Amino acid sequence: MALHQVRPRILGFISEDVSAWLVATLVLLAGSFLTAVLSWAMMNLFGQQLRQRFELQAEERFSRIEERFQEQEQRLDGLRRFFANSESVSNDEFRGYAEALLRRTRALAWAPRVRRDERLAFEQQARADGSINFTVREADGSGGLRPAAERDEYVPVLYVQSQASYGSPLGMDLLFEPVRRATLDRARQSGRLAVSQPLDLIGVDPAFTRGVLLAAPVTRPGATEPFGYVVAAISMRQLAGDGLPTAGHDNLSMRVIDLSADDREEALFESPTPAGHSELSETRRVRLADRDYRVELRPSRTFLTTNHSSAASLVVLGGLLSLLLSALLYVLVSQRQRALKLVEQRTRELRAREQELRGTHGQLRGVLDAATEVAIIATDLRGVITTFNAGAEQMLGYPSSEVLQSMTLESLHVPRELQARAAQLGARFGKPIPTCHAMLLEGGEQGGQQAREWTLVRRDGSHLTVNMLATPMLDDQGLWVGHLAICIDITERKRVHEALAARDLLLKKLSAHVPGGIYQFKMDFNGRFSVIYASDGIRDIYELEPHVLVQNAEAIFSRIHCLDASRVRSSIRASADTLSPWREEYRLQLPQRGLRWVRGEATPEELPGGGVLWHGYISDISDLKRVEEELRALSVTDALTGIRNRRYFQERLTSEMSRVERGSGGLAVIMLDIDHFKRINDQHGHAVGDRVLQAVCQRVAQRLRRTDVFCRLGGEEFVVLCPDTDSESAYALALGLWEGLRSAPIEDVGIVTASFGIATWRAGEGADALLLRADSGVYAAKQAGRDRVETQLG
Ligand code: GH3
Ligand code: MG
Ligand code: MG
Repeated sequence: MALHQVRPRILGFISEDVSAWLVATLVLLAGSFLTAVLSWAMMNLFGQQLRQRFELQAEERFSRIEERFQEQEQRLDGLRRFFANSESVSNDEFRGYAEALLRRTRALAWAPRVRRDERLAFEQQARADGSINFTVREADGSGGLRPAAERDEYVPVLYVQSQASYGSPLGMDLLFEPVRRATLDRARQSGRLAVSQPLDLIGVDPAFTRGVLLAAPVTRPGATEPFGYVVAAISMRQLAGDGLPTAGHDNLSMRVIDLSADDREEALFESPTPAGHSELSETRRVRLADRDYRVELRPSRTFLTTNHSSAASLVVLGGLLSLLLSALLYVLVSQRQRALKLVEQRTRELRAREQELRGTHGQLRGVLDAATEVAIIATDLRGVITTFNAGAEQMLGYPSSEVLQSMTLESLHVPRELQARAAQLGARFGKPIPTCHAMLLEGGEQGGQQAREWTLVRRDGSHLTVNMLATPMLDDQGLWVGHLAICIDITERKRVHEALAARDLLLKKLSAHVPGGIYQFKMDFNGRFSVIYASDGIRDIYELEPHVLVQNAEAIFSRIHCLDASRVRSSIRASADTLSPWREEYRLQLPQRGLRWVRGEATPEELPGGGVLWHGYISDISDLKRVEEELRALSVTDALTGIRNRRYFQERLTSEMSRVERGSGGLAVIMLDIDHFKRINDQHGHAVGDRVLQAVCQRVAQRLRRTDVFCRLGGEEFVVLCPDTDSESAYALALGLWEGLRSAPIEDVGIVTASFGIATWRAGEGADALLLRADSGVYAAKQAGRDRVETQLG
């Protein structure tokens, strides 16, 4: 299936080509948007809840204020009825009654109406009732009270029940001060409770000074005019603030504002808890007696703090979640993309490998079929043939269809041969080896797999000799899955091998029966020598084993005499250069037989890659050399006297002449002729003459130096060749010889003398001239009477 057909979508909807960054950004944006919407909705909800909570608390607070106002009205009204329905009320009765009503009221007072004419009697009665120094008084402007001035009517405070312990305003005329007076007037006119404008209360704690007076007219039943007033001094601070939570713990910030003055508003009460920042607020008009007050409520900081919105947390949380989700998606998408890319790459690689494998398989099949000269047979583990190539078909005559999956490799072998091999292997490994394994197991001694010769049976029953290499076949995991046998028909090779062996044997026999040895010698293109073949005869020649020679051709040169080695090397190179036959006679210095002479002859042949190959023969010519030397010695030796003859003298003279002509040393010649020898012959016979010749030679020879060469020139003439000898030495030698000869008689003959001539070589002189001068010396000695030495210096 093609890859693009299953192209996956990450998480089911994200195409794998989409950039991971894009996905992450989109998710982040969506998350942020959702967070914003959610936060907005939550803020709304929270706003509503906050309002409801505030309204609930405000309602409760309003109710409480209203309740307290009504309570004040009801109590004062109770006090009014107490006075209205009583004939007379003593101070104690008032105090007893008012004490129970004195709750959130700074003071309660009873002030009767007193006319001008009743003032004295009233003051006296009051003093008589226990109010010491009671006087109707009025404010003196400096915070104190003074006796009231003369007026038509007074409403002095008679009884007071107060929460304060300091001086009560007893006797103070409520009509004196306009605000109080206006309040009492309104009460009297309406016959109901009236409340004053805010004023400073007298006789209360300074903290509660600012307040209002609540006054109620007390009228006897049936009367129209009140006979007095009950008055409550109310501090708004106490009335509104009593029982509220301490500052900082109140949820509401409250203000109670007096609305009596048109131009200005006075806050009668302001709670100590400050208002927080909020749009929430509630206002209500609350009535106390005949006057309205505005109560304002706002949420305090405490309320706002306690009921703070969790939208910020939601934003943070939502933001974080969006970020995390986006990061997660980024990782997921990018990893998935990476994984998909990897899968794609691996798939490509696998496909390439598969293609390669297919190609290789095709090649292998091609090779198997092309190898018609080689039988390739593969078997499974049981030995059943699974591959039988064209070469095998051709070699064994079976069509592969007949063999595959039905015949075993064992069935192609000669059973007897397999049994013998199995027995052999069994003996080696010490356990029985099945015949089916005999062809697969190697000897073990060589270690690796090696081809082995087997006889196979063709379809027609004829036998075939093959070289078979059986190897185990392993799979990818290295497990044994079968065997592979590769067979090469070696029938022809074997025949050739046998023919070659026969020829080798013939060559060996032939070379064994000829003296000396035959060989093949090779010089590489780089000048290195090697022995290709050496017959057994070579061993005797060089006293080296043939295999040593084959390994190391230089061993030959170690045997060659040091004086001949370089000559032999150069002659070999010369033969190589000119491809001319090599022929050389040289000495060998052998460990056992000592010095030997050999002769080598070889024909060179240029090799294709450079280098030369010689086919040659070497024989020992030591005996021949010895005979040759003997003959040579004979040819240069005088048979009668045993000293060198004229031929030898001529050879040496030539070589000595060439030496002196090269400028190295001198040369002298001493020539001597026996005096009157003819007579000796004549007198004693020829035989005695011969003995005289021998005796003379003996005497001369024993006086000569090692370097001197003594020769018989013929008859009774002799010559001594003296290398590196000057004329004085030559003369001294000649005198010695002359003296030695004539000093003693020769048997049967007596004294025999000789005439000596000497010549010393001069620069530029030839051999003939030198000899002629020596001969002239002899002649001169003869002429001068014989038996003397004559020097030819000139
Ligand atoms: P002169 O003092 O002048 O040399 O006199 P001579 O007799 O020695 O000289 P001459 O040349 O006349 O004689 C040499 C003789 O030596 C002649 C010859 O028969 C003799 N003679 C040469 N060869 C041999 C030899 O091998 N054996 C013997 N016995 N005699 C030889
Ligand atoms: Mg002579
Ligand atoms: Mg003579």
